[in-house]
Amino acid sequence: MAEYSLEPVEVPPVETAFRRIHTKLPVPESLPILEVLEYSEPRSMRGQPPIVWHSAENFTVADKWGNRWLDWSSCVLVANSGHGREPVKAAIREMLDQGLLASYVFVHEQRARLTAMLQAIAPEEDYQIFLLSTGSEATENCIKLSKTYALEKHGPAKKYFISFNNAFHGRTLGAQLAGGNEKQKIWIGDRDPSFVQVPFPDGYKNEDTRFELFLETLAAKDIAPEQIAGVMSESYQGCGPDFLPKEYAQKLAAFCREYDIVLTMDEVQAGFGRTGAMFCFEHYGIRPDLIACGKGISSSLPLAAVIGRTDIMNLYTPGSMTSTHSASPLCVAAAVANLKLLVEEHLVEKAAALGEILLPELERIREKYPDRLGCVHGRGLVAGVQVVKPGTKEPDSATAAAINLACFHQGLLMFAPVGVGGECLKIAPPLTTTPEALAEGIQVFEQAIDQVLH
Ligand code: PMP
Repeated sequence: MAEYSLEPVEVPPVETAFRRIHTKLPVPESLPILEVLEYSEPRSMRGQPPIVWHSAENFTVADKWGNRWLDWSSCVLVANSGHGREPVKAAIREMLDQGLLASYVFVHEQRARLTAMLQAIAPEEDYQIFLLSTGSEATENCIKLSKTYALEKHGPAKKYFISFNNAFHGRTLGAQLAGGNEKQKIWIGDRDPSFVQVPFPDGYKNEDTRFELFLETLAAKDIAPEQIAGVMSESYQGCGPDFLPKEYAQKLAAFCREYDIVLTMDEVQAGFGRTGAMFCFEHYGIRPDLIACGKGISSSLPLAAVIGRTDIMNLYTPGSMTSTHSASPLCVAAAVANLKLLVEEHLVEKAAALGEILLPELERIREKYPDRLGCVHGRGLVAGVQVVKPGTKEPDSATAAAINLACFHQGLLMFAPVGVGGECLKIAPPLTTTPEALAEGIQVFEQAIDQVLH
């Protein structure tokens, strides 16, 4: 990932209803803070544009020195219902005043409220909910449940866990074994051979989007369907964002049903309205057995969940599938308020409608530079533009970083480019973004691209 220079540069002032830039960037007064972190933290924590977040309100983020950015990051696809919304803050305050800051798995009332709310949006009304803290914990739990189910019901031969090339499911051991980025897995050394990846049908990096390729790849590896315990896929792969073709997803779900394979959709990033559906898998018309959730579940404090089929969720005896901070009270209170906001403010529908504006505009911009902007993928309020070396599909991370920095200088905040080679400019505004704010963001994005690519 690119490292941004900490040398303050003069940038033209910006003053609109949503953006204000009136200092050098990075702000000279912010350098002592950044330098403390350079000294006290591993470099893995660097790599984002050099802003020191001070406050974040709905779809803008501000520093202490009077600069304000229109936010196209939502943190990292967290703030679906907006940053620091009053109902979320009020719910957290109320729990604070009530006096409950931690409770382990002792019951508190809001926990029952949240699990019932999540059950109501699950594929079946009797799906159950296991609350955790991070997305990685949720995907790890899905791996464990899939393998446990297969072992107990079918025996040890049903052991393979299939996931996809370029997948991202988190940074813990199991999540990385299931991840599809070879470089990220080198540290593991000897790998558990029951974790196997197959090509993802994104249509650009891999143009073969037939479901038969899934079957052919497994056959070539000598893995029979009967030996597969679980399949996990992000509902869209974050590196694109890349979506499954509907037909592929349906064939995959039918295949899993036929062979009693646990199908997990990782909705940590895609869930809670981001793509214009509560869950992205709804676009495919499939019903996963397990759903991994995180990020937008609370739009704020760390919370994650596994939502799943009762017979799978109940494999572990009381006390043997828990975590110290399962259902942490402040996080749960925030999630309840967040889910209410998503529904009451019709944010899922809004994301779908704003996507209808965003995606054609991005496609128009791409067509101005067909040699340098490889493709635009997206749905609802998530999109990605791939920056490539002229006339190829080869990632051009340096140019993507330059565009990202130009946006930052003009008051449009995006996290650093993602993708398999740092080439993807990813766009993910809070779902509360107004059409005016979205239009302004698109205009700044286009200007930044013009400035760098001309
Ligand atoms: N799955 C997906 C699809 C994700 O995007 C992420 C986080 N980017 C994770 C899992 C891991 O979540 P966390 O960082 O909360 O552990």
